[in-house]
Amino acid sequence: MKRRCFECKEYCGLFGIYGHKDAARLTYLGLYALQHRGQESAGIVVSDEKRVRQCKGMGLVADVFNDENIKSLKGHIAVGHVRYSTTGSSSAKNVQPFLVEYANESLAVGHNGNLVNALELRRKLEKEGAIFQTTMDSEIILHLVAKSRKRQFQDKLIDALSKIKGAYALILITKDQIIGVRDPNGFRPLCLGQVDGSWVLASETCALDLIQARYVREIEPGEIVFINKRGIRSISPLSKAKPSFCIFEYIYFARPDSNIFGHSVYLARKRLGEQLFKECPADADIVIPIPDSGNCAALGFAEASGIPFEMGIIRNHYIGRTFIQPSQHIRDFGVKVKLNPVKELLKGKRVVIIEDSIVRGTTSRARVKAVRDAGAKEVHMRVSCPPLKFPCYYGIDFPTKKELIASSRRVNEIRDYVGLDSLGYLSLKGMLSSIPLPKEKFCTCCFTGEYPIPIKHKVSKYSLERK
Ligand code: AMP
Repeated sequence: MKRRCFECKEYCGLFGIYGHKDAARLTYLGLYALQHRGQESAGIVVSDEKRVRQCKGMGLVADVFNDENIKSLKGHIAVGHVRYSTTGSSSAKNVQPFLVEYANESLAVGHNGNLVNALELRRKLEKEGAIFQTTMDSEIILHLVAKSRKRQFQDKLIDALSKIKGAYALILITKDQIIGVRDPNGFRPLCLGQVDGSWVLASETCALDLIQARYVREIEPGEIVFINKRGIRSISPLSKAKPSFCIFEYIYFARPDSNIFGHSVYLARKRLGEQLFKECPADADIVIPIPDSGNCAALGFAEASGIPFEMGIIRNHYIGRTFIQPSQHIRDFGVKVKLNPVKELLKGKRVVIIEDSIVRGTTSRARVKAVRDAGAKEVHMRVSCPPLKFPCYYGIDFPTKKELIASSRRVNEIRDYVGLDSLGYLSLKGMLSSIPLPKEKFCTCCFTGEYPIPIKHKVSKYSLERK
């Protein structure tokens, strides 16, 4: 039987602005700052209240946009989106924001997160005659709004949102307003800022910083903000749910210069490193991070332990999406091209590597081997989160349970697979105590298997296309 599935958005970045003459340019800059949240594609949709224009494409923000197409995006209302890289060739049609026309209205949506009832909703809508343009779950939201029998746009939107389940931070624009939404659990972040008297919405505060916008506040879980010429208006009409902020934003995903859920990512990561030392000290001559995601935790570990911090592995920051492969086989080329150990520093040393997370274990294994090949005498690893055992269905791109090394192996087995002298993970309790928010506010499903919203269909990017 043919199975019809969906692609979920994994990491994504959102930016929106209302009431600025340079809306497209500021959105471009905002997306530039959010590039780490998605490198596959980028798009901007702009309205001048009469016409809605869009420009979207595959690749990095700087590849998709240029002076000319930014100038052509005329209007003072804009929404932008960057999307994480996924495999497969079907992606051009899936570039966000999605723009549709219905009943004399234009509606564009950018979505960060993943709907867990996408499959049921899409099947139902298709049975009722809906024709889908993409394989993304976000398109369902547009269909639900367009199909709603309510008369006012606000009621149509509430109607649509009350039918979807899962993780969604959304920025929508119509011809004359911008709307920010955070799902009732608040899985993914969304913040509000102001620049030159205009309102800004963004996934992370680093996007506000770049355009010199002032941080105002977080959009609260379940909150919808409407911003138009009458100002900003907030409503919270959706059923309440247990807060379930994604803790992985702090561990790996967000930029360290951002504040997420109201708190500094840099400081949280540093505390994770300090706590890691308290729980799993190591006898070593130097502490080295896996750059860049391990940098802050390694600083915390080094400070707490008194062991010198060194940049024992250097990252090449200029790797594009593709490069010409070497004609001869080069061992571990993929790892080497990105990270290169500093031989003179590592030679004869007992090294403790700080890693933010181990997913499959395969890249860690190659990196550890590279550090040994560079002459390190002992290689220890400390990981600034607990073992990742369960897939995420709310928007972080983790592989299936089978592929997550910690789902089936004990710590000593992972240590041997990765090729370490010792391996230590931060405890769940230690991780939660390192972040200055009550522990009840977080979703920790990837560590505990406790899913705040039950998962009926395990929708992942790998189950997308028609088979
Ligand atoms: P591996 O050894 O193959 O499990 O890879 C571990 C590396 O993957 C770590 O350096 C992490 O920073 C990085 N990582 C963590 N989460 C993800 C993710 N969801 N997607 C891609 N890389 C990740």
